[in-house]
Amino acid sequence: MWEWVVIAFCLLTAALGGTYLYYLAHLLLTIAKCPDCGRIMQKVLYTEWEDTQERHIVYECRFCQAKRIRPLHKGKRFTMYP
Ligand SMILES: [Zn+2]
Repeated sequence: MWEWVVIAFCLLTAALGGTYLYYLAHLLLTIAKCPDCGRIMQKVLYTEWEDTQERHIVYECRFCQAKRIRPLHKGKRFTMYP
């Protein structure tokens, strides 16, 4: 009887571990590096003021973006951390 409990627990742990490993690999693969300074870029969602249906998802570097004088987009800006 107890063997089945142990086997079920091992299967559950393996499934959870596999999901976590897949999540980590997916996170590592989707991280984009800045071509200028090599830092990790942020995923930023831009929403236009006039038409909220229009959205732009861009990857930008926080440090290089701060050095620029004027921003590329004038709409709302949502930062989605990777
Ligand atoms: Zn940069």
